[in-house]
Amino acid sequence: MIDTHSHIYGEEFDADRDQVIARAKQTGVESIILANCDRESLARIIDSCEKYPDYCYPTVGLHPGSVDNNYKEELAYLKSRLSEVKAVAVGEIGLDLYWDKTYINEQIDAFEQQIEWSIEHNLPLIIHVRDAFAELHASLSKYKGRGLRGVIHSFSGTAEDAEKIFTYGNFFLGINGTITYKKSHLPAELKLIGADRLVIETDSPYLTPVPFRGKRNESAYVKYTAKKLSEIFETDIDKILKITTDNAKNLFLGMI
Ligand SMILES: [Zn+2]
Repeated sequence: MIDTHSHIYGEEFDADRDQVIARAKQTGVESIILANCDRESLARIIDSCEKYPDYCYPTVGLHPGSVDNNYKEELAYLKSRLSEVKAVAVGEIGLDLYWDKTYINEQIDAFEQQIEWSIEHNLPLIIHVRDAFAELHASLSKYKGRGLRGVIHSFSGTAEDAEKIFTYGNFFLGINGTITYKKSHLPAELKLIGADRLVIETDSPYLTPVPFRGKRNESAYVKYTAKKLSEIFETDIDKILKITTDNAKNLFLGMI
């Protein structure tokens, strides 16, 4: 398994990061992709990647929740670090209108500038989208046919959204603990979408799957998401693990 989206570099893991990594390895997690948010988190990501080489991989990007009046300065800084830190993706970037719509224009500008980086550097995207699918389609459709690839992290849209997204480039959907929640509409949508374009992730420390919902999430729990997917698709868990791991290796690590 590959945890394609984690914030294990955060202070929530400062006391026991070694043990969390050990549990991930024991459970069969082969690699963890560290999703960046801003300038401060990048320093922590670099530390974790140095501590766990060939296991934790860095990404560089400005999270939509970190876009404010200073975003141009932040983008310039992050762009300058992209090659040097050997980022495996531009992320997490995107659009979030759930908490705050104040910076909608700045969010869209930051998102599209970072899509340009991904084209320039031939890197996949990790896209965060919350309450902003109309805006997402508007931005991504501008880049159709330009070789875009990436993950819609914590996908929360419909089968119709997914089908549209697949026309913009080589896109996958990041699935996490939210599919184990009773009220989730995702299992029904995923049945329509199919398993072929999925990758699994934790978004740890957030979005912890059942049976640990409410507690801190960690990479080892990605197995509960895989198990739930095998129930949704009424198939063997090994088949789900093979599809999602191959997709992640191919997209981020160029291993297939
Ligand atoms: Zn995240």
